[in-house]
Amino acid sequence: MILKPIIFLDMDGVLFDFVAAFGKVLNIPDIEERLTPGVRNIAPQIGMTKDEMWEKISLHGSSFWQEMPEYPWFHELVDLVEDYSSEWYILSSPARSSDSLKGKLESLKRMFGERFRRYILTPNKRLLAGRNRILIDDYERHCEEFENNGGKAILFPRQWNSHHGMANDPMNYTKTTLAKIIEGTLSE
Ligand SMILES: [Mg+2]
Repeated sequence: MILKPIIFLDMDGVLFDFVAAFGKVLNIPDIEERLTPGVRNIAPQIGMTKDEMWEKISLHGSSFWQEMPEYPWFHELVDLVEDYSSEWYILSSPARSSDSLKGKLESLKRMFGERFRRYILTPNKRLLAGRNRILIDDYERHCEEFENNGGKAILFPRQWNSHHGMANDPMNYTKTTLAKIIEGTLSE
């Protein structure tokens, strides 16, 4: 029996531009260009501590998350995943503030419609791992933990991870890798 893959899509850094939203709050429009390639921790690169960064974001309540812009490849990526499996879910970790839960849900409704329910909001992404399950995420740790728990993961190329060399065209790598994983899964 061929099992349909279940594909999980991350929000921040994959479908939505967290860094641009943060740059807007700080009034640094070119924030992404200022980041050192491959370094995930943004705060010290702009002279802040992590606590200061989250405090700054918290001041904006849920609207920070609600207004987080989608990346230009948003629909292309969702369509790609949909082409492989009707079983796909948004898998996103809430930030420190509980406002992020509300704001993220509003963002999803903005992009997918009021009745959208295809989401899992949890910091424990590894619990969703397993055979035929694929995670697309920009965070190395989430990808590693997902694979260590029996799933497959695609590290979505972004300036702040080890795939930064492909950050200008993250879809090309994602398409190729997803195709390979799914071919491999089917032949197992
Ligand atoms: Mg992310």
